[in-house]
Amino acid sequence: MTFQELNIIPPIQKAIAEMGYTRPSPIQEKAIPVVLANSDLIGCAQTGTGKTAAFAIPSLQRIAAQKPKTVGAPRVLVLTPTRELAIQIDENFALYGKYLPLKHTLVFGGVSANMQISSLKKGTDVIIATPGRLLDLARQKQINLSGIEILVLDEADTMLDMGFINDIKKILTFLPEKRQTLFFSATMPPPIRKFATSILRETVEINV
Ligand code: AMP
Repeated sequence: MTFQELNIIPPIQKAIAEMGYTRPSPIQEKAIPVVLANSDLIGCAQTGTGKTAAFAIPSLQRIAAQKPKTVGAPRVLVLTPTRELAIQIDENFALYGKYLPLKHTLVFGGVSANMQISSLKKGTDVIIATPGRLLDLARQKQINLSGIEILVLDEADTMLDMGFINDIKKILTFLPEKRQTLFFSATMPPPIRKFATSILRETVEINV
């Protein structure tokens, strides 16, 4: 399997080729067609499997291919447990989206919100965030989540272990019900699965 066979658009293929990736990893091979088909997804995968690209590449491709419903509002929201993971994911969006006219913004706690707010005011397509700070900004109306088309929950098991479940549930109330949700978790014990099925539509499940 190649990225071309996965129907990845040329600007993303070019960026991937420059990174030296020769072929998709197993999770990418399984997840990319599902995401491009607008299906919800449960991905059971550890870090190191290439899962970031498995959601970042097709999310970028989907929003690049379609006009936004709400002009100027962010279209992809990635929630992740820690600042370090948020930074890594942001770097991935920068790399795969290098040849696309899309903007991405990081939102995390523990630092002043002012820079993040001014970055959001300039307009962004993708937000990569930790749940607590994102919820604060949504409540303060500093962030408009009504145009989100794709929600990614990354490392959902860690987010729940860290006690973010209530923040995530409140964030969901700011999002459109009609959206695509991609749920990634390294483990899938019953409480995590129950949470996943409560927020996903008909879902394709992938294990690697
Ligand atoms: P992740 O599981 O998302 O943390 O990715 C693990 C590492 O694999 C990262 O350093 C990626 O840059 C790299 N990677 C992701 N996809 C591929 C691929 N298709 N071929 C080679 N390396 C990749």
